[in-house]
Amino acid sequence: MTKPGKVFLIGAGPGDPELLTLRAVRTLAQAEVVVHDRLVSDEIIALSPETARRIPVGKAPSFHPVPQERINEILLEEARAGRIVARLKGGDPLIFGRGSEEAAHLLAHGIAVEYVPGITAAQAAASATGVPLTHRGLATGVQYVTGHRQAGKGLDLDWKRLADPDTTLVVYMGVANIGRIAVGLMTEGLPESTPVLAVAQATTPRERRLVSRLDRIAADIREAGLSAPVLFIIGRVVSQYAHLPAAQMAADLASAPRVAAHA
Ligand code: SAH
Repeated sequence: MTKPGKVFLIGAGPGDPELLTLRAVRTLAQAEVVVHDRLVSDEIIALSPETARRIPVGKAPSFHPVPQERINEILLEEARAGRIVARLKGGDPLIFGRGSEEAAHLLAHGIAVEYVPGITAAQAAASATGVPLTHRGLATGVQYVTGHRQAGKGLDLDWKRLADPDTTLVVYMGVANIGRIAVGLMTEGLPESTPVLAVAQATTPRERRLVSRLDRIAADIREAGLSAPVLFIIGRVVSQYAHLPAAQMAADLASAPRVAAHA
């Protein structure tokens, strides 16, 4: 009987290959099979041996060529055949990545699993823009939420808990529903002028940023047409954007959408 292989659930980070961990690079170099999401760049996939088989299982809103159950099966089949499998996921595998679901499936079938952490989009967007997730006097904590709705269902978010002016709110997968999210937060008492930063394709050469405020973000996003993936940071910390002085920040907020190319 073939000795079973192993599956490494690897965080590929936000895009820039320099933001991979050393462990991710070393593990990729040993891979015999690479099963990767659409968000992972060719440059990163190319860190695996040329002989490694590459299996794209692209995931994007309304684009699901390979259902999750099938991904689980592919990972299981490859590991059962005795191979070292690199399961590459954008950001960190344990933040909105379904990494733990894949691991549970493999572990239930006796396959060894190891996680390799990655830099999640929130950390990447923060460092790329200079907006801190916490800052003394501005935010004592941070909450990560998904703005994605399952087909036919409403947004399952606790607006009361999220509408906390002392906490930074980071919204993953929020483009389609940012209008509803903004209304939910304002209804529970967050000021209309609460600043919002949207960062598209953070840390890639195509990075774009937009600074807006709760009552305008939906319209500004529509107008700017940022392309996925987009992350939102909502809260007072956005006032630190690019270390702008307060007066400049106010001017930014008052003007039309501000889309700045990453220089
Ligand atoms: N596991 C990933 C998140 C997967 S969910 C992580 O830890 O980052 C996909 C969402 O992540 C996207 O809708 C977007 O909100 C965010 N995202 C991932 N990469 C991003 C990037 N480079 N720039 C901006 N947002 C990103």
